[in-house]
Amino acid sequence: MRLGIAVDSRMCMACYCCFIACKDEHCGYDTALSKSQPMMGQKWIDVREWERGDNSRHIKTATVATLCAHCADPACAKAAKNGAVYKRPDGIVIIDPEKSKGQKAIADACPIQAVFWNEELEIPQKCTMCAELLDDPDYLTYLGDPKLKIPRCVEACPNKALYFGDLDDPDSEISKIVASQRQTQLEPLAGQETNVKYLNVPTVFLTGTVYQPAELEEVLIGAKVTVEVAGQTFETETNYFGDWEIEWLPKNADATVTITADGYKPATYKVKTDIDHYVASTYLAR
Ligand code: SF4
Ligand code: SF4
Ligand code: SF4
Repeated sequence: MRLGIAVDSRMCMACYCCFIACKDEHCGYDTALSKSQPMMGQKWIDVREWERGDNSRHIKTATVATLCAHCADPACAKAAKNGAVYKRPDGIVIIDPEKSKGQKAIADACPIQAVFWNEELEIPQKCTMCAELLDDPDYLTYLGDPKLKIPRCVEACPNKALYFGDLDDPDSEISKIVASQRQTQLEPLAGQETNVKYLNVPTVFLTGTVYQPAELEEVLIGAKVTVEVAGQTFETETNYFGDWEIEWLPKNADATVTITADGYKPATYKVKTDIDHYVASTYLAR
């Protein structure tokens, strides 16, 4: 068994219900696996939001809830002394609240800043994947099924952006959603195996607008747009506003954008996919 959480960025609407549920569960009392989370200053699950795009006509926002990734080979465990960080047989990574006292290096080692240093208690703290609840035979979620134990944040999410379950079971709901969606990873954890899976976290988009010759100032509907980047080809057409957009491009690569339409000379641009980018307002010439 390998317990995990999947976070689907596409479905996250930054409502913070997961954050509140985590606070509700972990603030105010200690458990065998963690000391009380301070009300302020710690975000065991952190809703990150950012704006995308470099042109006011073509901007978007993106959101993703992030938490300890419960890494297969955790950097925090390597930094710990006396076995203060350990991985349970179910894959959950736990910081021992007693053994970790004074070990700020554990907090400093996490590449995604998922560990918080409690100045007052002098301990590092983070998400436990609600293991203390999963271990509790009397824990009953609002779902009412005693066999279905899920972390509080997953239970609280109103928009099905969070999934929990056994990643080793190909028939589990989490395995199916992970298999069916675009798997992404937080950049500092690139290449690492983790039990928290990020799905559909945006990479880079390119966009633009295509017009007929400048003297007409009319948008061109149905122009073909091709982006060739990192050995892959992406295609789309301009919509009723003359706009085009291609998402999910490989990051930090050299891309060639070609715009064609019957009866017009093609236009070509060289761009780098380092940021979400409005390539151009293109006036095709006849
Ligand atoms: S995400 Fe950070 S805190 Fe969590 S297991 Fe990995 S290194 Fe440790
Ligand atoms: S799994 Fe539990 S401890 Fe971890 S972020 Fe969610 S509610 Fe908090
Ligand atoms: S509860 Fe769900 S939708 Fe709301 S912020 Fe958290 S992950 Fe996103």
